[in-house]
Amino acid sequence: MTQQVQPIFIMPEGSTRTSGKTAQKGNIAAAKAVADTVRTTLGPKGMDKMLVDNMSDFVVTNDGVTILEEMNIEHPTAKMMVEIAKTQENEVGDGTTTAVVIAGELLAKAEDLIDQEIHPTVVAKGYRLAAEKAIQVLNEISENVDETNEDTLKKVANTAMTGKGAESSKEHLSELAVKAVKAVMEKTDGKIVIDKEDIKIEKKVGGSVEDSELVEGIILDKEKVHPEMPDTVKDAKVVLIDAAVEIKSTETDAKIQITDPAQMQGFIEMEEKIIREKVDKIIASGANVVFCQKGIDDLAQHFLAKKGIFAVRRVSQSDMEKLSRATGGKIVTNLDDLSQEDLGTSGLVEAKRVGDEDMTFVRECKNAKSVTLLIRGGTEHVADEIKRAVEDSIGDLTVSLLTGKVVAGAGATETELALQIKKYAQSLSGREQLAVNAFADAVEVIPRTLAENSGLDPIDVMTELKAEHDKGNKSAGIDVFTGKTRNALEDGVVEPLKVKLQAISSASEVATMVLRIDDVIGSGKSGGPEMPPGMPPGGMGGMGGMPEM
Ligand code: ADP
Ligand code: MG
Repeated sequence: MTQQVQPIFIMPEGSTRTSGKTAQKGNIAAAKAVADTVRTTLGPKGMDKMLVDNMSDFVVTNDGVTILEEMNIEHPTAKMMVEIAKTQENEVGDGTTTAVVIAGELLAKAEDLIDQEIHPTVVAKGYRLAAEKAIQVLNEISENVDETNEDTLKKVANTAMTGKGAESSKEHLSELAVKAVKAVMEKTDGKIVIDKEDIKIEKKVGGSVEDSELVEGIILDKEKVHPEMPDTVKDAKVVLIDAAVEIKSTETDAKIQITDPAQMQGFIEMEEKIIREKVDKIIASGANVVFCQKGIDDLAQHFLAKKGIFAVRRVSQSDMEKLSRATGGKIVTNLDDLSQEDLGTSGLVEAKRVGDEDMTFVRECKNAKSVTLLIRGGTEHVADEIKRAVEDSIGDLTVSLLTGKVVAGAGATETELALQIKKYAQSLSGREQLAVNAFADAVEVIPRTLAENSGLDPIDVMTELKAEHDKGNKSAGIDVFTGKTRNALEDGVVEPLKVKLQAISSASEVATMVLRIDDVIGSGKSGGPEMPPGMPPGGMGGMGGMPEM
């Protein structure tokens, strides 16, 4: 018996499906669109993006991950590209644009190969081989760095800040960043530990970027409690109290019936006595600065002020802990236990008005394990972008010191990688060789884009750059101002090895993952992925149209 062939529906109505080349092309187009969006921001002469939300709030930034996060991207493959940027940000804190641009270019080159009837799995395999080689080469060409190489560290900080609106104050800011990281760095048994949490970044609008400063200690968003207290205390002996310097409501909860004025007087005197005792304990400890996590009674404020003691109340718990790390003082929970040993020290405690806010600076803490960077900028948006630039610097300094390795920037490393990978490709046969070569070409997108974004002729620049590398000048990079090649390490363009390692590996991972997809199935459930290769939905508006297919 022959049965009639019926079409079989395995998915519910409303589901969508594209497969084969159509699916691949759609995915590649989406990835390229994401890369194209951030591409123009790459490098010192990169442009900025203004991102406006539906409340007309806006961010002006050059930072890859910030741009992609704000864009509200919905296409699933495009989202994978955004993930690269996020991973890069979380792992190393810099190189987000680089990673995304390389991934986009890897896929663009893959598309050419697929058009030449090379199977995507062959391309993916070639890419994996090339990425392994790239990581080996990166390790070989990297240079050592440690905390004593002040000069190199400043170059790293400087490079991280390039193109981020910090341009005119780069020298000043990178000095601050280096100092901050060195202050919180700890070395135990030759092992370096840097906790970025120990660097507090405080942003205050107003003043100029040049007014930004590093406080080897803590800045508190709080003012002194009493106007009669001194504005500055030198050689401060700091007491940290996690207890109320007032009569707690529970202590006076009992109802008291007052029948004559004498009784009232007695009651007030008793309260005064309790407060006095508390203050006397503080005075007896020898402290001249008080940070209290709870309240300080008016009367106590008055007594403290009379003794010339500086006091701040209602300090947050996290700030109390930072104060403890900065001053070396112990947080005391019971005033009866307070002794001289619990006190911390600071060279200078100062009440200061910053912008329109009264703040307290706890400066010059010896061996401060917790420091604060005060970032100033003319407007909110300037200050925000400076803050991001400084955060990138701190991130790059941290990974440089942790891994102890740096590489040349300005396109030098990518050009050298391309050269070495092409040499390696010659040892392979046929189609794999094509894929490995394509990988090498893709990596060159970085120097090419740096040249383009600087208004230079990319062909001229690349020709000269490659010639230098052929001659063995591994650190030859682009001088974006003249278009000539220069030794990037000497020129001061230095980046952490880890930034490049991470960018190459996550870009190639995502590229190979996208290449292996040949079927895109939309379940049709709401919230499910929209179907490539149709126009990506709403969120990607303005990202450039998809190619005709
Ligand atoms: P990313 O998000 O990838 O860090 P950036 O916009 O910070 O993107 O650009 C980083 C690229 O700019 C790196 O390739 C770096 O080597 C290059 N670069 C930084 N400063 C300079 C400079 N002064 N001259 C040339 N290239 C530079
Ligand atoms: Mg950067």
